[in-house]
Amino acid sequence: MTDAIWFDPSLMLIGGAWRAADSTLSLTNPSDGSALAQIARGGAAEIDAAVTAAHHARQSEWGRMSATERGRILTRIGNAVLERVDQLAEIEAHDVGKPLTQARADAGALARYMEFYGGAADKVMGETIPYLDGYTVYTLREPHGVTGHIVPWNYPMQIIGRSVGAALAMGNACVLKPAEEACLTALAFAHICQDAGLPDGVLNVVPGLGAEAGAALAAHPDVQHISFTGSVRTGALVQQAAGANVVPVTLELGGKSPQLVFEDADLEAALPFLVNAGIQNAGQTCSASSRILVQRGIYDAVCDGMAEAYADLTVGPAMDDLRVGPLISTRQKEIVDGFLAQGADLQIAAKGALQNAPHSGAYVVPTLFADVPPDHALARDEIFGPVQVLIPFDTEEDAAAIANSTDYGLVASIWTANGARQMRLAKQLRAGQVFINNYGAGGGVELPFGGVGKSGHGREKGFEALYGFSTLKTVAAHHG
Ligand code: NAD
Repeated sequence: MTDAIWFDPSLMLIGGAWRAADSTLSLTNPSDGSALAQIARGGAAEIDAAVTAAHHARQSEWGRMSATERGRILTRIGNAVLERVDQLAEIEAHDVGKPLTQARADAGALARYMEFYGGAADKVMGETIPYLDGYTVYTLREPHGVTGHIVPWNYPMQIIGRSVGAALAMGNACVLKPAEEACLTALAFAHICQDAGLPDGVLNVVPGLGAEAGAALAAHPDVQHISFTGSVRTGALVQQAAGANVVPVTLELGGKSPQLVFEDADLEAALPFLVNAGIQNAGQTCSASSRILVQRGIYDAVCDGMAEAYADLTVGPAMDDLRVGPLISTRQKEIVDGFLAQGADLQIAAKGALQNAPHSGAYVVPTLFADVPPDHALARDEIFGPVQVLIPFDTEEDAAAIANSTDYGLVASIWTANGARQMRLAKQLRAGQVFINNYGAGGGVELPFGGVGKSGHGREKGFEALYGFSTLKTVAAHHG
């Protein structure tokens, strides 16, 4: 337990009331394996109560509130999050194992999402459509009603910010199911929302197991939209369950995102991005750059430069705030260790180092593999740990073909000074976001985000998310 937790973590929020569940689940601190907290184990009954409370909220004050007033509440929530950034970061460090600096950045992003969607709430407009003589036609953007949000453990605050923030801005009422491995900042956020004046029932938070609370939310017949972030396997199950109710789904799934480095690239500028995009959050990032494709003429220089950077990658407890913390759990460590074993026949170009890391923590040392064949499991499968592969290529065509050769399509980046090549590849690469001479652009909340292929469908972040969390009505008036 940490003193930073100012609320009772064993309760869930339904209809404005904090209640206990019949049983609880244990949270573990991945930095040392110690017990962190007991959380509620919500199930189908609690999800049903939360959906009912959300519908009631839609029929009440929230449903009648002006967009401007909704935006003001979101802005107040954002300001309140900013006041608690250090506290939220400490909670996240204990719960997720995220080094403090990275956890602080997540809390700042949550505040920024509330600020962005608070400002956007009253700027979503329909249009008038020129039509037949005697008609006036216009469109209205309306909330879906009750939206379900199923969130993973790797970036709880950022993912809650981008999905719940946009849904609330459009006037939906939300039921949030955080991950069973890490859900404390979801509960903290709910307290902040309540204190900032969000009406009862507009945000309900029901922690619990995926197969229980998550499955019940995905299948609930009175939920009108599901936003899911997580694995491909679970995403497919959620889509099936929602499909039975003909409910739209946004799926933000995994990735195997490449960076393409050409001989004319500014290597000094590229190197920090090549490494950091792969090891941030110990590689447990959907948009992690786990494949580094390098043109043969600068292959050795990139290999040497990345090896030098890896020598500075220290791994230890989240509160020590090193470059890399533990993985979320020993289960996740076993998965990543399994991938490392599959690379036993490959050449290791570089490794990081443990620093004061207890044996009881879920630590994996960052590892960079060299000369990896593009069809090797380490070059195709999402590992979700601090593991990167270097793949040499000869021509632009080869680079595009290798980049597009996995099932995923989330993010890609191109490092080259050649403007025509930048434009060609930006069109050819199969990805929801393409970066030119950078990676991630600082993660801007303004930038629409989402995948193609097995990376999912639908877009969150930016203004685009507001269209996803609303439905369009066409009104045609005949007045002669
Ligand atoms: P997961 O799919 O196991 O769990 C995600 C969430 O789904 C959790 O809240 C879990 O409780 C819930 N869940 C599990 N089974 C369910 C079911 N049957 N029905 C409904 N909900 C269920 O994924 P994870 O292991 O928590 O997260 C890792 C994966 O998520 C990685 O593959 C990663 O790439 C992906 N991810 C993607 C993004 C993105 O934005 N694209 C962001 C973060 C994580």
